[in-house]
Amino acid sequence: MLQVEVLTLFPGVFASPLQESLLRRAQEKGLLCVRVRNLRDWAEGRHRIADDVPYGGGAGMVLKPEPIFQALESLRATGDPLRVILLTPQGERFTQETARRLAAETRRIVLLCGRYEGIDERVRLGAVDEEISIGDYVLAGGELAALVVIEAMARLLPGALGAEASAREDSFWEGLLDYPHYTRPAMFRGMEVPEVLLSGHHEQIRRWRRKEALRRTRARRPDLLARAPLSPEDRELLREIEQET
Ligand code: SAM
Repeated sequence: MLQVEVLTLFPGVFASPLQESLLRRAQEKGLLCVRVRNLRDWAEGRHRIADDVPYGGGAGMVLKPEPIFQALESLRATGDPLRVILLTPQGERFTQETARRLAAETRRIVLLCGRYEGIDERVRLGAVDEEISIGDYVLAGGELAALVVIEAMARLLPGALGAEASAREDSFWEGLLDYPHYTRPAMFRGMEVPEVLLSGHHEQIRRWRRKEALRRTRARRPDLLARAPLSPEDRELLREIEQET
């Protein structure tokens, strides 16, 4: 079972996403366990204040180090070892490869969510194993980023996706984008489903899908195509695509 501990000042953000669809099912099946902890529980004083003004002045607040260190120490005192991950726009870009690596973790994954101007630098220096960014933009807090990481990991857990779906066919699995998908009706507002998909010919369908995945990756993400492991068939399909364009 993949165990995730979330440390946040806003635990309510997680309520609905964790109770819907794939995330709910993964927890019900015992594949995933997510515990959302309120950092304020480790803050001192009657008002349990977990943030303070920045040294040196300036706008905004900074998450104090003590509640975070204390939260980690109390988590460490019981249960499996921890891998502490800070969500930050300054982190390593989150990819499918990272999701796959983390989904195989045996340690408990701690997702530390910043807010305001961020966290006291000493947390980064003394308590964090890894820093993850979900993209080059700035969110108000790490909570939505943590949910992105949780969902990307959860759908890779064996048994999390129903028999109707497979992570192996998704974009990025083999370094390519996914092929186009169609469902009924066969004709919609003058747009037809490609004939081969209606043919029932499995080998032709497989070849068409592979070719369209290559075509799409070539057009949209040539950087991915340049790094993708290509078979002799892939190279032949790419030659066909080049001739067609
Ligand atoms: N001042 C910080 C900086 O420029 O690096 C940004 C702070 S941001 C307003 C507040 C929190 O949101 C961060 O501490 C982080 O936890 C989270 N956050 C914002 N953007 C993120 C991103 N792209 N990926 C992951 N976490 C993000």
